[in-house]
Amino acid sequence: MHEVWIIAEENEGKIKEISYELLARGRALADTLKVELGSVVLGHCIQPSGLDALIAHGSDRLYVVDDKALATFSCERYALVLESLITTQKPQIVIAGATTMGRTLMPYVAVRTHAGLTADCTELGIEEGSGNLLQTRPAIGGNIMATIKTPNHRPQMATVRPRSTRALPIDLQRRGLIEYIPFLREWDDGRLEVLGLRKPEGQQLSIEEADMVVSGGRGMKKRDNFQLIERLARLFGAQVGASRDAVDRGWASYPHQVGLSGKTISPRLYLAVGISGAVQHLAGIKTAGCIVAINSDEHANLLDIADFAIVGDLFSILPQIERHLEQRSKV
Ligand SMILES: Cc1cc2nc3c(=O)[nH]c(=O)nc-3n(C[C@H](O)[C@H](O)[C@H](O)COP(=O)(O)OP(=O)(O)OC[C@H]3O[C@@H](n4cnc5c(N)ncnc54)[C@H](O)[C@@H]3O)c2cc1C
Repeated sequence: MHEVWIIAEENEGKIKEISYELLARGRALADTLKVELGSVVLGHCIQPSGLDALIAHGSDRLYVVDDKALATFSCERYALVLESLITTQKPQIVIAGATTMGRTLMPYVAVRTHAGLTADCTELGIEEGSGNLLQTRPAIGGNIMATIKTPNHRPQMATVRPRSTRALPIDLQRRGLIEYIPFLREWDDGRLEVLGLRKPEGQQLSIEEADMVVSGGRGMKKRDNFQLIERLARLFGAQVGASRDAVDRGWASYPHQVGLSGKTISPRLYLAVGISGAVQHLAGIKTAGCIVAINSDEHANLLDIADFAIVGDLFSILPQIERHLEQRSKV
């Protein structure tokens, strides 16, 4: 039976977290279709412990191409390898992360394999009866959720927003098959030679990567007050987030927006200040670890899902937290 595949990502031999999130998505699809779940791993000096981890996170089978030619991501080269694997193995579904790599690679592969592709999905499912992949994503500026299917072409391909789901718990009893595929010289079209890599300097961590995010909403009342959020984030060593309302008012810029039409984040701690918790906001924090809400309205939606709630006026609560953090930093 045609498998479901995920495209794993690695960096310097280490498997990236997005791979495990994709396995959680892929496992659900494969179980519904009653087929095996495969992972494609392309790279160089891939750590065997990472391959074991892919199996422990839900993969039944790994297709590993480990070669110096794949040490750095090259869209053309990676696409040639993937096209060849897809043509020979014929998976029915291929999903990748909506990451820089996934967004670059998948359109290229989709064209080469004559497949459909839906980018940036937030939900995936299987249509009853037909077994088609249902690919749901925000559309028309986030104003609707569109569900897309590609019934006439195989494989069905989608990229999935990072951090829109959690990885499955590790199961060390799981067994899987690892197939090492030798790199074929025909996959190297000879047009690319990587001379070296330079990492950008002084780049700020994005809120998607942050361990802690402090977000402000309309309850902050005006732009000047948003500095309270920025100061608090600095003291915590956190990144600044914002509700769409705060972004629309110009108190924070769009890359800081959390939610359906903003970023999906997964910090260990999310502190939401003066944010009511509209469904569109909650869509961005579904996989956050611990959620703390500060709100003067005890009936605010966010308080229903928060792990800790502080009910009161933020303008008296924030300075107290700030004082406490400053004192602690002096000790
Ligand atoms: C298609 C679509 C996409 C959207 N995408 C997003 C998205 O990505 N992200 C997003 O956030 N929203 C999004 N929205 C908007 C969303 O529906 C809400 O309008 C928005 O989240 C509200 O922002 P808010 O919580 O800051 O403001 P409000 O809902 O007005 O809440 C302000 C909160 O502050 C509290 N407050 C006020 N004063 C104080 C005080 N002194 N002390 C403590 N608390 C106080 C209030 O009790 C209230 O709960 C989207 C909407 C649509 C239709």
